[in-house]
Amino acid sequence: MPAFVKMGLHSTGYATHRCVKRNTERAAGRRKVLPGFPVTRQFETLEEINQYLSGDTITCLLCGKEYRRLANHITAIHGISVEDYKIRYGLPWRRGLTSQACHKAYADALDEERRDQFRALGDKFRGLSHVASHRPPTPAHRKAMVERIIASQGSKIYEESDWTAFLENIGTGKTTQEVLRMPGMPTMTTFMSKMREDEQFKAKFLEVWRGLPFSVQARGQRLMPEFVVEVRKLFDLGWSDKKIAARLGVTAMTSNKFTKEWRIGVNDALEEGE
Ligand SMILES: [Zn+2]
Repeated sequence: MPAFVKMGLHSTGYATHRCVKRNTERAAGRRKVLPGFPVTRQFETLEEINQYLSGDTITCLLCGKEYRRLANHITAIHGISVEDYKIRYGLPWRRGLTSQACHKAYADALDEERRDQFRALGDKFRGLSHVASHRPPTPAHRKAMVERIIASQGSKIYEESDWTAFLENIGTGKTTQEVLRMPGMPTMTTFMSKMREDEQFKAKFLEVWRGLPFSVQARGQRLMPEFVVEVRKLFDLGWSDKKIAARLGVTAMTSNKFTKEWRIGVNDALEEGE
């Protein structure tokens, strides 16, 4: 084999080898994962997400390196799509993976003409945005949503099983106030709004309540119409408040609250008759 061919081959082969080696080293450098990475958890709060996306650079959660534009890096180096990256870390799909500083510089660089073109495009596709908005919320968005509901209720979210437990407790002869004070039970405000908003629950509650002794109903300051009927019967028999109260398991004062009205009527009738 002629010397130059041999040399050339050798030289080319060597150069190629060197070049491949250098590229491999560079690529390996780009693929190097910093300590503490990859991050394995998702973003849990919107604050965390905002903080993550608002710096001068964005940290790649897979390797720990920082970039002004992360999208190219994650697809080229880690071989996953931006979409997959966002799903993996619970990032909102609407937010880009471009640092605030970079985004601002880019926006500033856009001249008026191009800005108008973008605006026109935006207007054209705006009508389609509702199609994409049906994607499921990120865990952080779900958490924020739950927190908003909790804040508005002032307590945790009560499930049907909680309300069933509530009614069972009432059924044991406790007043609403007594049950609401038990651990794990809703607040008075939550109970009142449940009564307002859930007709079926209200009916169930009143049914259970109606079955309780008058003594409990009186203690809970919610005497049912049946009580008035009973008091009236005994009143008509000429019973005193004390006697009525003893029979029905309430205080004489409770009986008197009703009988005093009727007594006025009787006294009036007596006076008229004189
Ligand atoms: Zn990376």
